[in-house]
Amino acid sequence: MEILEHFRKTDALLEGHFVLSSGLHSPKYLQCARALQYPSDAAQFGQAIAEKFANETFDTIASPAIGGLVIGFAVAQALNVRFIWTERENGMMTLRRGFSVKENEKILVVEDVITTGGSTRECIDALETRGAKVASAASIIDRSYGKADVGVPRIALASLEVPSYKPEVCPMCERGEEAIKPGSRFQSKQ
Ligand SMILES: [Zn+2]
Repeated sequence: MEILEHFRKTDALLEGHFVLSSGLHSPKYLQCARALQYPSDAAQFGQAIAEKFANETFDTIASPAIGGLVIGFAVAQALNVRFIWTERENGMMTLRRGFSVKENEKILVVEDVITTGGSTRECIDALETRGAKVASAASIIDRSYGKADVGVPRIALASLEVPSYKPEVCPMCERGEEAIKPGSRFQSKQ
């Protein structure tokens, strides 16, 4: 499966001229959840990540909610191991819902998209402060140009550059192209 081609087909990756939620403009818009709408697609991404770790075993897969939930579950299913997630409580990433980890439990942390690596790092911290050992991290997409450092070895199925510009220096604006807010006037091809 060609990852980015699949993202384009499912409108998870749009190309044009977009106003991001930050107010910055970008020629690309990524919404990973759209690529994971169909369980058979999510299962294929999960299998592809699992195959990257063919020579390793993990006790548990963990993901930062919400973005990591579907792909984390899919990887755990492919590896037939336990799946748990971390989520925020009063702004702090933590384990809730009665989830616990054992001392030295070996964990793979899985996220949908890594941009700065912030939520993966917070997920790792939440697990390691409870004694678990996070051995690796994975994501479907790496938006960090390979630069995000999460403190453990990390893989991604695909790299994607998503440049962003302040409106006053946006090259698409300069060409007079209209900027679209994804989700408002964007009409799905499906
Ligand atoms: Zn623009």
